[in-house]
Amino acid sequence: MYKSGIVKKYKFLLFLLFSTLLCGCNEPKTVNGIYFDTFISITAYDNTSQEVLDNCINMCSDYELVFSKTNPSSELYAINSRDNSINISSTPGEFCAIISEDLYSLIEYSLSLANNTNLAFNPALGQVISLWDYKSENPVIPSDYTVKESLLHTNINSIHLDKDTKTITITDPALQIDLGGIAKGYVSDKLKNYLIESGTKNAIISLAGNIYCIGDKYGQKYNVGIQKPFSDKKESLLTLSVYDTSVVTSGVYERYFKSNGIIYHHIIDPHSGYPSTSDLISVTIICNNSTQADALSTAILVMGKEKGIEYLDSLENVSAILIDSSNNIIKVGDFFN
Ligand code: ADP
Ligand code: MG
Repeated sequence: MYKSGIVKKYKFLLFLLFSTLLCGCNEPKTVNGIYFDTFISITAYDNTSQEVLDNCINMCSDYELVFSKTNPSSELYAINSRDNSINISSTPGEFCAIISEDLYSLIEYSLSLANNTNLAFNPALGQVISLWDYKSENPVIPSDYTVKESLLHTNINSIHLDKDTKTITITDPALQIDLGGIAKGYVSDKLKNYLIESGTKNAIISLAGNIYCIGDKYGQKYNVGIQKPFSDKKESLLTLSVYDTSVVTSGVYERYFKSNGIIYHHIIDPHSGYPSTSDLISVTIICNNSTQADALSTAILVMGKEKGIEYLDSLENVSAILIDSSNNIIKVGDFFN
């Protein structure tokens, strides 16, 4: 058994070597790690150097120290815990701090998306999101009172940004910012920009459900599978052939717990404070802007089929695959024309 395994492996390596020599292709090079609470990997199919790929991992580590809501060393954590050492406001109950370029621009973009999506995407939802603890062994359903109380502290108008001073002012002491629905998209865009500036022409960036395809893979389009919701075997419901684009999926099956047969998942309807009960269970966005794609996948899922399609129709260069609760597939946008 063992021997035949080695022979098979050996034959496979020879096969890889010959096929690589024949097509003149570079061997794929991959780096990976765990950041943003998820498995990430970057694979280059051209002559991208190991150093450039390693730098991508370092970038993930650096961005985690900006955007993580749970890492006590992160910049966002300092804001959410109203770290007194960075507070420059003298008004009681108000917090004001100078923030990094990255945090500033992602919060600014999140707020504009919140306005454009009628708050289906809300970066000020942190208080409510923390009530739903999917990671716990014994998750507890929060009381309706707690949910309603926390909802009072999700008003985006309590967040003020000032471009000149690069400051954020938060006027509600209980408001918590959560960028979990958009940060991975932002990091994908930054990695893509860095790779392209470094000369990379063919690579795939994968941050869990956030994929960015740079160029193509040995002259062929990349195949990106869209997972069948709640499938144990992680089977694909369909496969997209894409190049030079981002493909981002949000699904209610990604993080959830079950209680009395009810699924409590991680995409929250900001209007109710409860996991979204719209008719959509998975949303995939295909567009060049991964930050936008990430936030939209979350927002459209909350909006539901009808409003989601209407909103998508109003956007340019954005296509989508929606899966409803009966596993019907709805394709929207120019990508499919
Ligand atoms: P994933 O993180 O699994 O890729 P999403 O991109 O859809 O999935 O983001 C879900 C995360 O976004 C949640 O874990 C939470 O941090 C945050 N979130 C949940 N609901 C909303 C919402 N309506 N608006 C903004 N952020 C949200
Ligand atoms: Mg998202």
